[in-house]
Amino acid sequence: MLVGVPKEIKTHEYRVGLTPASVREMTHHGHAVIVQAAAGHAIGLEDEDYRAVGAEVAVDAVEIFARADMIVKVKEPQPQECAMLRPGQLLFTYLHLAPDLEQTKALLASGCVAVAYETVTDRFGCLPLLAPMSEVAGRMSIQAGAHCLEMNQGGRGMLLGGVPGVAAAKVVVLGGGVVGTNAARMAMGLEANVTVIDKSLRRLQELDLQFGSRINTVFSTVGSIEEHVLGADLVICGVLVPGAAAPKLITRDLVSRMKRGSVIVDVAIDQGGCAETSRATTHADPTYMVDDVVHYCVANMPGAVARTSTFALNNATLPFALALADKGWRAALSDDPNLREGLNIAEGKLTKPEVGEALGLPF
Ligand code: NAD
Repeated sequence: MLVGVPKEIKTHEYRVGLTPASVREMTHHGHAVIVQAAAGHAIGLEDEDYRAVGAEVAVDAVEIFARADMIVKVKEPQPQECAMLRPGQLLFTYLHLAPDLEQTKALLASGCVAVAYETVTDRFGCLPLLAPMSEVAGRMSIQAGAHCLEMNQGGRGMLLGGVPGVAAAKVVVLGGGVVGTNAARMAMGLEANVTVIDKSLRRLQELDLQFGSRINTVFSTVGSIEEHVLGADLVICGVLVPGAAAPKLITRDLVSRMKRGSVIVDVAIDQGGCAETSRATTHADPTYMVDDVVHYCVANMPGAVARTSTFALNNATLPFALALADKGWRAALSDDPNLREGLNIAEGKLTKPEVGEALGLPF
């Protein structure tokens, strides 16, 4: 199969669909790969690195879309990319179709076969191609939170781990899933005082087994959230209710009673955020203040560490990309029910009822 990797064109997107190491795996499996010039330049993956592992480098995306059997990307195709997709051409990338009628119509019209990273499952029913970005965002949330606690950011002027003789900061993590676990881990590494609040007892038991006495686990209720958020120096929001907007666990009133200079890092902002006072921000202007509480609500946190994110994403996507290339999409999907969950559009037909329902399209 000829696999094509165009340069991402969405604003501030620096990740790339295949790293040179992934290209080498592809060529090792007997596939040819064509990569757009400078596709990975921003994150230090140069054209020579791709050529060295057998890729051909194309000057522009037009050639890649015209020739490749499968396109491997990161972000959803932009309108000009949708227009270049061909009937029967395989597209493997993040799509997030449910809120995006324009893209869905364009993909249907193209006749392509679109397999979305975010709906591929694993045998536990989890979403393995979303998890790496939650790992990145969870770990980053502590870096961001520690920075926001500094005086010149409006914070309380606290070091997360304190120093001998001075107490460590209190970090409260709402939601002990992928984001929350990674945040807790980083906060513990910096020797903060860490509490994780979750409504899943099973999750709390797992965290307790994993981290022992280095972490406090608390069952999520209105009362426990109020108590711990009011005592917190840094709150990380990593709650997810699958398929729904994030629950507003931190009310406006609660924010008004938080410590002056405390910080909320609302990682769940991509689902609307867990605080009533949260609104999405960008890396260019990541924070704002409400009632003397610093809010950091960047909706695409992994974008700031595009190099790490690219490698993390490739580790998760590569086995599926190889299966699609080795077997072709029909056989790959029929052999693997988890990969089959990734199929959103097949040659002009919508294959995800949830997307059809959300957009009012037939499926
Ligand atoms: P996850 O499913 O692994 O974890 C969510 C956790 O929230 C679960 O353990 C669940 O039990 C818990 N939860 C649900 N309701 C709760 C409640 N009322 N009280 C306490 N806990 C509750 O999800 P995840 O992968 O960790 O993702 C968390 C959020 O972070 C998602 O909204 C995801 O989209 C978002 N995210 C944002 C970015 C970003 O750049 N801002 C990046 C990655 C992920």
